[in-house]
Amino acid sequence: MITHFVDGRPWTAGAARLGEVFDPATGAVRAQVDLASVADVDAVVAAAAKAAPAWRQTSLAKRTQVLFAMRETVNARRAELAALITAEHGKVLSDAAGEVQRGLEIIEYACGIPTLLRGGFSEGVSTGVDTYSIRQPLGVVAVISPFNFPAMVPLWFVPIAIACGNAVVLKPSEKDPSASVKLAEWFTEAGLPDGVFNVVHGDKEAVDALLDHPEVRAVSFVGSTPIARYVYERGTAAGKRVQALGGAKNHMVVLPDADLDLAADAAVSAGFGSAGERCMAVSVVVAVGTVGDDLVPRIASRIGEIRTGDGRRPGCEMGPLVTGAHRDRVASYIAAGASAGASVVVDGRSVVPDGSPDGFWLGPTLIDHVLPGMSVYTDEIFGPVLSVVRVASYEEALELVNANPYGNGTALFTNDGGAARRFQYEVEVGMVGINVPIPVPMAYYSFGGWKASLFGDSHAHGTEGVHFFTRGKVVTSRWLDPSHGGVSLGFPTQT
Ligand code: NAD
Repeated sequence: MITHFVDGRPWTAGAARLGEVFDPATGAVRAQVDLASVADVDAVVAAAAKAAPAWRQTSLAKRTQVLFAMRETVNARRAELAALITAEHGKVLSDAAGEVQRGLEIIEYACGIPTLLRGGFSEGVSTGVDTYSIRQPLGVVAVISPFNFPAMVPLWFVPIAIACGNAVVLKPSEKDPSASVKLAEWFTEAGLPDGVFNVVHGDKEAVDALLDHPEVRAVSFVGSTPIARYVYERGTAAGKRVQALGGAKNHMVVLPDADLDLAADAAVSAGFGSAGERCMAVSVVVAVGTVGDDLVPRIASRIGEIRTGDGRRPGCEMGPLVTGAHRDRVASYIAAGASAGASVVVDGRSVVPDGSPDGFWLGPTLIDHVLPGMSVYTDEIFGPVLSVVRVASYEEALELVNANPYGNGTALFTNDGGAARRFQYEVEVGMVGINVPIPVPMAYYSFGGWKASLFGDSHAHGTEGVHFFTRGKVVTSRWLDPSHGGVSLGFPTQT
């Protein structure tokens, strides 16, 4: 059984409720996971609250040492973590390794916390008076993460929250919880004091308990838009600071002057990498003018070369979906698109996988002539289904992207610098790629969308992450100096 990890060790209070964790490539139940009750969450938060004051007082030098040690462990044991991700999520090992690399970069960013937390100082704002700013940790913070990046998304937040001097309670997805426990074990080995980083497994009951708990000061959430909105509203109603990153429907606009081989390669890698279970996956290609006539066959022929199968087998490029229920839901959109009048150019339902027949398979799917009113366009499908919408002009493409309720990522493929500059200015989306299909910011920039893709105003990691996990304080001070007739010089008196 996969248990919680609390106060530096595995912990269960009896596991009254259990969830099933699958191996998506075989369909077998791999493990059972403890699902926390409200009382369990109380116990975990209490452990974090007990550890928080001493951790806050721990010097920046010592905190940094722990992060450097963690960096070394993740770097040295990255294959182990990637294998765990593939076993529970299903993505192929190379995708899992990429995820670990991205998470590692956030740990490396957090190693710079002494510089990132530096305040400002103004000498002599008034006669003998100085003013300075400092940033202080919040106390106990919660991170609630989705299934699709079981290591990277927790690592968007946890290293920075810890580096800032907070204690953390992570509630990972109950679908693939093992990577989080592994990270907690490694943090403990790296010298993190017990209770500073805790993992509690669970579902809605655990999430609600964290949102309501008075000791939890801030919540970082990543998941689907309906739950993100709910978490934001319930958490802020309880007086917490909340950043809730939601779902996506990412458009890749291809202008007539684009390099079509580059665009076709990009559409395939961004549409079907990790089986489309990425919040930055491209799910809609917007073909401008007659570009679709050339582009669609190029995408279709590349899809024919993708081998779908068990992510542990060499040569497999796309794995299964996370559960059987999710696979069935995604497949239902292919049928809905066809009956609404779109043309299914490549149908992933007939895939022959390189793996167990009981895995949760769906092959890459391409649907052309999709119209904005169809469910295959309006809904976040979160699977290997790529739609093509054909429009007459740049203006029509822009209008489509901006009218979409989601605003996580978008891309423009063109050889026209002026058009690219105009697009980056006009498009209402948080992350924009120019001839880059998945414009994922680096650790030292912040990650986040607009509109229904983000509730709150703080993006993840980068300077916004440091800001989210700290509170600003401004101190104005005057020290009287008797050796100068009681006049303050702005320095402590020496006696
Ligand atoms: P999800 O919303 O189902 O679950 C996310 C988390 O919320 C999990 O920890 C889950 O246990 C919890 N949860 C689920 N239902 C709940 C409920 N009713 N009440 C309270 N908590 C609940 O999302 P998922 O299926 O795990 O992940 C996929 C989604 O995440 C997609 O929509 C994807 O776009 C989104 N995502 C967004 C980003 C981003 O940066 N914007 C990144 C990764 C994933």
